[in-house]
Amino acid sequence: MNERVALITGSTSGIGLGIAEKLVSENLTVILNGFIEDSELGPLRKRLGTLGHGSVGYESADVRDAEATRTMVDNVVEQYGRLDILVNNAGIQHVAPVEEFPIDKWNDIIAINLSAAFHASARAIPVMKSQGWGRIIMMGSAHALAASPFKAAYVAAKHGIAGLTKTIALELAETGTTCNAICPGYVLTPLVERQIPDTAEARGISEEAVVRDVILAAQPTRKFVTIEQVASMANYLCSDDAAQITGSTLSIDGGWTAK
Ligand code: NAD
Repeated sequence: MNERVALITGSTSGIGLGIAEKLVSENLTVILNGFIEDSELGPLRKRLGTLGHGSVGYESADVRDAEATRTMVDNVVEQYGRLDILVNNAGIQHVAPVEEFPIDKWNDIIAINLSAAFHASARAIPVMKSQGWGRIIMMGSAHALAASPFKAAYVAAKHGIAGLTKTIALELAETGTTCNAICPGYVLTPLVERQIPDTAEARGISEEAVVRDVILAAQPTRKFVTIEQVASMANYLCSDDAAQITGSTLSIDGGWTAK
């Protein structure tokens, strides 16, 4: 029985859900977070519960809210008595030129994609320090390392995540807790599916052309990264073999940032 407890923000969909499935199958206890219909939450927890021996919890915090994000971490520690792994994964996207970028979208993206990781980490760090072991995994992006037009807030937030990752890693270097950012290229999740029509409009091209000439053109392999590949990297970072990987931005992007 694995006693480790993992909290994954934004894990009701896409990459976060894939990481949850992977960690549950490794018999960890996993606490989900993210938006989900009440009618869908029970069946999801039940399905995940069949994958391993750990329990599957849920925290409903909207991570735009700093206090709610901090309280979510406190709740997990109170309920489960520990927190070993924090995956700061929740994220949204909006595609528009800088001069037209809506202020509320800018604020939401900075809050969800960057500030929430700061708030959750700030509460998790004392717990991990006291346990002498911890893993903080940030969901970065190729956009933590390189920019694309029309994604000002997302690129700014993800570059911020790279800096936050390195800072936390240095502060925790001697404590047994590592902090790394996984930096995927394009993964076909609802987040990417939703931006195809907006990108088509911003660039004045068809949706088919967006997939061919923008999305897959970014990746020399011309293939999407899969959710399972990202989840497997997260699982590796949680292992003791990864104890000397800290402060890293780990690309999994089909060669995108090699160009
Ligand atoms: P997704 O839309 O499938 O999932 C996003 C998750 O975040 C959902 O569970 C959603 O409910 C949750 N969420 C959104 N706003 C929230 C809020 N305010 N409070 C709490 N939860 C909230 O997206 P995804 O593609 O799986 O993205 C997950 C992460 O991976 C994001 O940080 C994203 O930037 C990053 N990423 C995605 C890709 C990609 O191509 N899909 C590539 C690189 C990085």
